[in-house]
Amino acid sequence: MKTLIQNGTVVTSQKKFDADLLVEDGKIAAIGTNLPKEGCETFDAAGCLLFPGFIDAHTHLDMDTGTALTADDFYSGTRAAIAGGTTMLLDFATQDKGKTLSGALKIWHGKADGKSSCDYGFHMAIVDWNPAVSAEIDEMVKEGVTSFKLYLAYDNLRVSDGELYEILKRVGQVHGIIGVHCENGDLVNRMVAENRAAGNLTPNYHPLSRPDFVEAEAVARYCYIAQAAGVPINIVHLSTKAGLEEVRRARARGQKVYIESCPQYFTLDDSLYSLPGFESAKYVCSPPLRKKADQAALWGALEAGEIDTISTDHCSFNWKGQKELGKEDFSKIPNGLPGIEHRPVLMYTHGVMTGKMTVEQMAKLLSENTARLFGLYPQKGVLAVGSDADIVVWDPLFQSSIHAETQYQNVDYTPYEGQKTVGRTKAVFLRGTQVVCDGRVVCENSGIYVSRAQSEYYGR
Ligand SMILES: [Zn+2]
Repeated sequence: MKTLIQNGTVVTSQKKFDADLLVEDGKIAAIGTNLPKEGCETFDAAGCLLFPGFIDAHTHLDMDTGTALTADDFYSGTRAAIAGGTTMLLDFATQDKGKTLSGALKIWHGKADGKSSCDYGFHMAIVDWNPAVSAEIDEMVKEGVTSFKLYLAYDNLRVSDGELYEILKRVGQVHGIIGVHCENGDLVNRMVAENRAAGNLTPNYHPLSRPDFVEAEAVARYCYIAQAAGVPINIVHLSTKAGLEEVRRARARGQKVYIESCPQYFTLDDSLYSLPGFESAKYVCSPPLRKKADQAALWGALEAGEIDTISTDHCSFNWKGQKELGKEDFSKIPNGLPGIEHRPVLMYTHGVMTGKMTVEQMAKLLSENTARLFGLYPQKGVLAVGSDADIVVWDPLFQSSIHAETQYQNVDYTPYEGQKTVGRTKAVFLRGTQVVCDGRVVCENSGIYVSRAQSEYYGR
């Protein structure tokens, strides 16, 4: 089947230009003007921007924390993703203590296969490092898992500095890339304990137990350990000015350090923790929402090209029944925010519409860089001949607002409730098939697992 998407404006990381896209057998077959339309279905994209399908490299779907199971599984989460323009996501398969990586991968395939409305792949979170697990790294690469995740916080997940060093070296051998959750876990534990002992149990003590230096210290340590190991690294969900400054130092030393941040750190701030009642629990995530000054620093860094990728850290828990587990003690509130559906519209509204970000940067940060870093480029991440026809037809003028009532995310709130937005998905094509029409999902469960190549370690 052939489809001709006509009259749109193609956006790449470098430029935008008016052109038609010819889609054939799931791939982009031609880009140009006056392309022949014989035998084609046509789609009129007049007035619309054509973005490469957005990629979200940080989601937690169908994840059990031990006390709560995320509200979104792969069925609801990927439907929400595609409605918003995300055509590919990378979720975190997570090893259980004492178990294998291949076992974890199998479990995550079981969660996702046949139930996903956008394409997907997995990072592997390593929580139990030993020689047998080290031997499994090659197998992971063969299975298309070329990126790994490590935690420096959360007692059930985190690795030691020595393990971090060894894993960086080992994954470097296969040209993989590691993303680390940077918070000093020991410090967080002590500060949480101090607050609990003092009877400080309301949600506003969550951010006070994880101040900016907790992130900055872990970022600095990670960067130095990576320098020792001699490998490029990725930092997930960077949230603070102090953390950013540590990355600048490492880059000034000549290190390749990639930065991911998330819409919540650009658009929400820690004043939300002073909302009355238990309302503020909706915003409990780690790292927590930060100060206005941190937000300004992140926007400045984005404008300067210092931030590489924007993903969501989507990790949804219902306010009723799940966040409420911490009603008497903030440390028991499941950590995480929903956002998989709204990343493109939030970054468009707060970035492009305010002049802080160009549409080219949007294509780069939400799609191309992510594809390059995680071994998906040029199959994904770009509108080019031969690439997958993952195409977002973006109506740049559509005005709307975000509400839990009308969202696809299967969770009882949204941190962006009532926010006015500009732009939306007029259509989304997934490997050539139209799956979204006017923001509504019209074809579900057609996502497939994408086996990834090794990281490109682009630029920098
Ligand atoms: Zn996360």
